[in-house]
This record gives sequence, structure tokens and C-alpha cells, in this order.
Amino acid sequence: MSPNKPQVANLIKCPHCGNAKNFFEITDDVITTTHYRQNHDGSFTVEEQCSQALGDVKLFCGNCEEDLTDFHQRFSEMIF
Ligand SMILES: [Zn+2]
Repeated sequence: MSPNKPQVANLIKCPHCGNAKNFFEITDDVITTTHYRQNHDGSFTVEEQCSQALGDVKLFCGNCEEDLTDFHQRFSEMIF
């Protein structure tokens, strides 16, 4: 094994259908803050948007919608 190649980490895989590619996340009670800049013609452009979750965050399989929240900790550490 070449030391220059990144090691393949353990992939999160849906135990129900085997999907390891598509996932979605549902967040309860999100506060979304959006910063706008007003242009000379009176229109607005989004400068920055950030959101803060106050409630539960759940992870689901994108294929069969199985609840994969047990994997969420690992999932959130692997978002780059
Ligand atoms: Zn699945």
C-alpha cells in the first residue's frame, strides 16, 4: 500500500438497503440568518447565509429513507 494514497475510511452504509452514496439530513428548529447587500437599483444580493440548529438533527438513507441517525456523529465529522 502506498503511503501517499489516502486510506479509504469505513464508509457509512445503510444496513437496510446497502446504499453508501446518498444521504439526507433533517434538522429541527433551525435559525437561518441571511445577510444581504442592497444594490443601487434597489435589488438585494445574498452575501452570506448561516444556519444554526436548535433541535435534533437526523440522518436518513437517501435511497430507502431508513433512519441512520446512529451514524450522524461520524457523518458530521466527515463533511469537508
Ligand atoms: Zn437504505
